Amino acid sequence: MVKSKNSPDVIIIGGGVIGCAVAYFLASEHGIESLIIERNGIGSEASGGAAGELAAAELTEKGAHRPPAIFTQFLQEGIALHANLLPALLEESGVDYLLTEIPLLRPAFTDDEANGMRDELARLHASGIAASWLEPKDIQAMRTWLADDVLGAVFSTELQLESYPFALALAQAAEQHGVEIRTGEVTGIERSGGRVTGVRLGSELLSARTVVIANGPWSRFAAKWVGLDIPVIPIRGQIVHLDLPCEAPRPNQAIFHSTGYVLPKASGSLYVGTTIEDVGFDSEPTIEARDSIMEAVARISPQVIDIPIKRISACLRPYSTDEMPIIGAIPGIDGLFIATGHAFKGMTLCLVTGKSLAEIMAIGSSSFPMTEFSPARFVSA
Ligand SMILES: Cc1cc2nc3c(=O)[nH]c(=O)nc-3n(C[C@H](O)[C@H](O)[C@H](O)COP(=O)(O)OP(=O)(O)OC[C@H]3O[C@@H](n4cnc5c(N)ncnc54)[C@H](O)[C@@H]3O)c2cc1C
Repeated sequence: MVKSKNSPDVIIIGGGVIGCAVAYFLASEHGIESLIIERNGIGSEASGGAAGELAAAELTEKGAHRPPAIFTQFLQEGIALHANLLPALLEESGVDYLLTEIPLLRPAFTDDEANGMRDELARLHASGIAASWLEPKDIQAMRTWLADDVLGAVFSTELQLESYPFALALAQAAEQHGVEIRTGEVTGIERSGGRVTGVRLGSELLSARTVVIANGPWSRFAAKWVGLDIPVIPIRGQIVHLDLPCEAPRPNQAIFHSTGYVLPKASGSLYVGTTIEDVGFDSEPTIEARDSIMEAVARISPQVIDIPIKRISACLRPYSTDEMPIIGAIPGIDGLFIATGHAFKGMTLCLVTGKSLAEIMAIGSSSFPMTEFSPARFVSA
């Protein structure tokens, strides 16, 4: 492959955590340099605005769609990679993104919820996830911020990080390995015969024999440039940031319920969330969301309602309509790859996605089995 500033090995569209992670692993593990093209700033969309919780212990409500076992394994692999890569990323970037452990409670307030959660615990244990059931008396002894009428809770210890510093750390670590980052909006993907030849930035053409579509919910537009329909849609999520003074008491555990969450961050912030809104590409925060989040969270954790609100943030999750990420080579177009559709789990999955896609691009296969995530389920060659 030709390596020059004008003709990088690989062009990556999008400087969210997914694009940055692909670039990082291509360079650090395979010596393949790439150019990330980002139209705003690194981590300027969901990757910088996410809550930053890295959890595999998802509980599904009775009758709800359960993620397949391979997705849970992918999450576990992603979390392990976050833990393993921390020293290298800290050293290479100099950015501390506060990767820390957080005790997490998933409470039940009805008998149905409690019974469903006990059943779900068996599934978690079968996946090798450490979690236990707490009775109300155990919860009381922990001095939690849970409402008094809690009937029990699943307890686990998870990891979390600060999303925006993490996105910057990943980008800067990638740059240490020779990755270039350029500001610009990609407006087309160039092809000749059956292979990719580069990308278009307005009137400018940049050549590359390999292109990765990693522009989050906008990936659908990029796929359309080459005539493909990849079903990724934006799903807005909002977070209320509470103004908790340094000296004020704060919760010792995160609380996650199907109606809302309370997440104390290692930086001292307190997040409450969230919404799941199908409103197109509108990423403005709303008063309605603020009120509905506060109302839901007041039910599970009444202490939060007395804390003043600092601000509300909103961003768009790249949601694939079959709820599985879309990662791999695009059949029928040599040199074109995609990594998108990570929805609620992009922070958790970015490193394992980057590592796996880099392996597929460099050596043709990955150590983690990726068949279920392949774009081939939407594209025929
Ligand atoms: C409120 C909220 C909370 C969340 N909390 C968590 C969490 O706790 N844990 C977790 O694991 N996940 C969480 N997520 C999900 C996670 O944030 C996303 O899955 C992840 O950030 C997606 O990363 P991405 O790189 O695919 O997309 P993005 O972050 O959207 O990045 C895509 C980038 O592409 C750029 N771009 C778009 N079009 C172009 C173009 N034509 N040319 C150049 N650049 C372009 C954009 O500017 C953007 O920077 C949360 C999401 C939301 C909304």
